[in-house]
Order: sequence, then C-alpha cells, then structure tokens
Amino acid sequence: MVAIQKNNETQKFWDLLSEVPDPEIPVINLVELGVVRNIELDGQTIIVTVTPTYTGCPAKKLFNDLITEKLNVNGYNNVEIITQLHPVWNTDWLSEETKAKMYKDGISPPTDDNLVITCPHCHSTNTEMVSQFGSTPCQSLYKCLDCLEPFNYFKCHR
Ligand SMILES: [Zn+2]
Repeated sequence: MVAIQKNNETQKFWDLLSEVPDPEIPVINLVELGVVRNIELDGQTIIVTVTPTYTGCPAKKLFNDLITEKLNVNGYNNVEIITQLHPVWNTDWLSEETKAKMYKDGISPPTDDNLVITCPHCHSTNTEMVSQFGSTPCQSLYKCLDCLEPFNYFKCHR
C-alpha cells in the first residue's frame, strides 16, 4: 500500500474528488479506487497525479475528464493532470471497506489468487467463470452454481 499524502491545503480537493463515482462501479469513488495518487498546489494550479487502472482501460481518459470537470464546476479552473504509470495501479490499493461496498453492489471483489470467487448474491464459493471479460475488461463474468445468478468478478491485478 502506497501511502497517500494529504494535508489541510489539499483536503478540500480530496473531498471533492471523493464525490466523483467510478464510471464503471458507481458505488465507489475515484479516491477509493486509488486512481487519484496525489494532489498538490502550485500557486493557483491544482496538480492531480492520476494512475489509471488497467492499461487500455476505456475509463483512462474519462478519469482525467471527470477530475478536471469536478474541480472546474467548483470554481477551480487551473487543473493539471499528471499521469503516473509507475507504480502500476493494483487491486491491493482497494481498502477492505471499498471491497465490501463493491460486494454489496453485486460485484465480487478481487481475491489474492483469483481462485476462490464468492457469489455476491448468496455467498457461495461454488462458482464458475462464464467469460474472461464481463461488462468491462477489468471484470470477468461468473455464474453461481448454487443460486444460478450471474455476477461480475473484479479481477485481481498486480
Ligand atoms: Zn449465488
């Protein structure tokens, strides 16, 4: 886990960006997702360091646009986005609380080994993969063999 630096000066920006939902999993926000790595002030300019999730994830450009827009509508017009590719975004940056939110929303959160996948509907581990790719490339489509409900599994990524 890479510690995120926060201070009083930038706290309000962290708070604002905590109101921006992940376009793919709206119950979690961009700060919880861990894509917002750092916020700095350089004079009047807000510099936001962003680590995109998966390379080639369609949400990448969208994250930058959402962040810029959120700050702009709140009156902060000088926004600079820095894309930081290393360290690579990984699912270890998701807190247990964030994973719990995901699970409650019907998405099975990443597990360490990608092996035992729990059904978010009935909590059974008797599940099988239907398709490598679910509603987004970051997720796989699974089916529960007990309750027969399909669900998405958010793939572990390191
Ligand atoms: Zn089930």
